Amino acid sequence: MVQIGIIRNSVILFILFFFLSCVDKQQVKKQITITPVKLNVPKFNVDSAYSYIQKQVDFGPRVPNSREHEECANYLVTTLQRFGASTTVQEAVVNRYDGVNMNMKNIIGSFNPESYTRILLCAHWDTRFLADNDVVDVTKPIMGANDGGSGVGVLLEIARQIQTSPLEIGVDIIFFDVEDQGQPNGELNTNSDSWCLGSQYWSKNPHETNYFADYGILLDMVAGENARFTREGVSEKFASRIVDKVWNMGRKIGFSNFFVDEKTPGIIDDHLYINSIIHIPTINIVEYDNTTHNRFNKHHHKHSDNMNIIDKTTLNAVGQTVLEVLYNE
Ligand SMILES: [Zn+2]
Repeated sequence: MVQIGIIRNSVILFILFFFLSCVDKQQVKKQITITPVKLNVPKFNVDSAYSYIQKQVDFGPRVPNSREHEECANYLVTTLQRFGASTTVQEAVVNRYDGVNMNMKNIIGSFNPESYTRILLCAHWDTRFLADNDVVDVTKPIMGANDGGSGVGVLLEIARQIQTSPLEIGVDIIFFDVEDQGQPNGELNTNSDSWCLGSQYWSKNPHETNYFADYGILLDMVAGENARFTREGVSEKFASRIVDKVWNMGRKIGFSNFFVDEKTPGIIDDHLYINSIIHIPTINIVEYDNTTHNRFNKHHHKHSDNMNIIDKTTLNAVGQTVLEVLYNE
């Protein structure tokens, strides 16, 4: 009798518990669908981004095959790891336009590798082996504080912010190598595919089989004073929806002086190969200056591309805009 009573009571309790737990689940489900979790957007720390640019420049020019290049690669990998990213270094030998073999290192840092929704953020980290826009020491490498250093500096600060304020979506940060070792314009039989060798290699051989991201954002020369970022042609052709998303966000949070609503011609940069080879819609945030001969920043491929031209207001506009986009996904 006692035992049957216990069993009967247990059955009743079990049915009651099962019923309550179903109700509970339904209520929880309802709450989740009614109130989506809104993530607070962290504040981009521009001093921190600046210090990551300084650190790269302190190594010296980061030309493939040099000791400085090797040392900077180690710094980038350990820093991404310190900020909680799982890292992959993709190494290969690629051929410069004049036949020189270059030891390429694409450096990849991933957050939430298991997440299906992913955003790709990228910049090149190598610096040019020539100062072909300069009038002195043309055959010596440039420091590349803006051209190379600035995009990487902003992305390292974003990596640090992701560690402090975790995201649910996946983010892959890629520092492409051998972007800036291409054939100078105007040389005989100019080969436009001699640039961006790291991103060309990665687009054909991504670090993970069947890798895909919803979209990509490339940063190149994002620290010039009063920089104007226009709707560049390749970005517009392959990913105008993403240009809209980023430009609208930049303008909404007060940076309409930087994110200019003007269409300008396409350029050869890492995003061209990401769009055309691996088909991830990718935009380029890159300065457009219509007062220079090649429409790039006036210190482009000159020895004056050093820490003196790094402008914190511009860095902050770009860094905060990209953070806002990420945390609103
Ligand atoms: Zn360059």
